[in-house]
Amino acid sequence: MNDVIVIGAGVIGLAIAIELKLKGISVTILRKKELNIASLAAAGMLAPHAEKIPSTSLFNLCKNSLELYPQWVTKLKDITSRDVGYLPSGIIAPSFEHPTASSNGGIWWDRQQLELVEPGLTRDIVGAWWYPQDGQVDNRLLLAALNQAAVELGVEILDNTAVLSIEEKADKVQQLITSTGPMQAQSYILAAGAYARELIDLPVSPIKGQMLAVQMPQDNFLAKVIFGDGIYLVPRSDGRLIIGATVEEVGLANYNTPSGINLLLEKAIAIYPCLKDYPIQELWWGFRPGTPDEGPILGRLDAENLLLALGHYRNGILLAPVTAKVICDLLLDGQKDPLLEEFSPHRFISKS
Ligand SMILES: Cc1cc2nc3c(=O)[nH]c(=O)nc-3n(C[C@H](O)[C@H](O)[C@H](O)COP(=O)(O)OP(=O)(O)OC[C@H]3O[C@@H](n4cnc5c(N)ncnc54)[C@H](O)[C@@H]3O)c2cc1C
Repeated sequence: MNDVIVIGAGVIGLAIAIELKLKGISVTILRKKELNIASLAAAGMLAPHAEKIPSTSLFNLCKNSLELYPQWVTKLKDITSRDVGYLPSGIIAPSFEHPTASSNGGIWWDRQQLELVEPGLTRDIVGAWWYPQDGQVDNRLLLAALNQAAVELGVEILDNTAVLSIEEKADKVQQLITSTGPMQAQSYILAAGAYARELIDLPVSPIKGQMLAVQMPQDNFLAKVIFGDGIYLVPRSDGRLIIGATVEEVGLANYNTPSGINLLLEKAIAIYPCLKDYPIQELWWGFRPGTPDEGPILGRLDAENLLLALGHYRNGILLAPVTAKVICDLLLDGQKDPLLEEFSPHRFISKS
């Protein structure tokens, strides 16, 4: 019997599986067929400061993960020789008004300072908050590296294997019923992103985000990530400029809409006018795994051999390293990181 089965092969499931395998645990990952997974749809910003995260505990978790990023991507590179486009190059949040208070560790740049770095922003912008600690990773390259690392380390990945139900008895998972038959392991990890609610009764819901990419001209690359009001521009080193993202509670509506793309284009052109003539390269959408308080769900519910790693909402790419660490510590050493207290699934279970 396997030591561990991980349900889900997004950034969260893969990061956990790799961490476990590096500790000598035998791991199988199950992944459903052809899902539009959030880890491929994301923008890859590592932006706890620019995002102005509402709660202190979530901010601390994100900051902790941001600090783990350099060593995490180095570890992946050592295993796979792949570069994942990790750039701790800071994020600029432009403003149409002069600041009245400080902003989450940001440094205020006036228009003159801003122009030295990004001259193409609209004249109506009076300055910007500069968050030097934030950055980006190319999430598609990251997912490819995670997949390769898992394979090279000997994690078994079973494609086209949907978990249909999790069978529990006496507070223990007995087996998974899957599209290819029943499966057993000593422990299970549920990392099924926005689709988790099909398997467990917790409030994880899909929050749709539409995105597009344009191609920047060789002689006019945007240098830094721009984080505006309801819009962001993420330049990749190959010249793609990622523009995102809508935030929509429309269930699993699997398509782009004219109004969604129109909204993004209007806001993007308003902030960075020259992109209006750039060739459109791609349109896509994805589903953030949202929770009512926007925090992830990490830890055990009732079954002692089932750990949950769900609901990473807007920050799952950022939170992957810390999630892998705390879930492995919990599974292998029973070591509960104090940070986990706030993210327990029990916060969503009514006490009556
Ligand atoms: C438009 C958009 C922009 C984003 N931008 C950012 C960003 O800039 N920075 C950031 O940090 N985060 C961002 N996010 C959020 C981030 O993408 C997610 O939080 C993260 O990818 C969640 O990863 P996951 O592994 O939990 O889920 P997913 O990547 O969705 O993976 C889920 C996995 O579970 C599998 N699965 C589901 N159900 C089953 C089943 N029944 N049986 C077997 N397998 C199953 C799927 O096949 C898949 O492999 C963004 C998200 C979106 C949609």
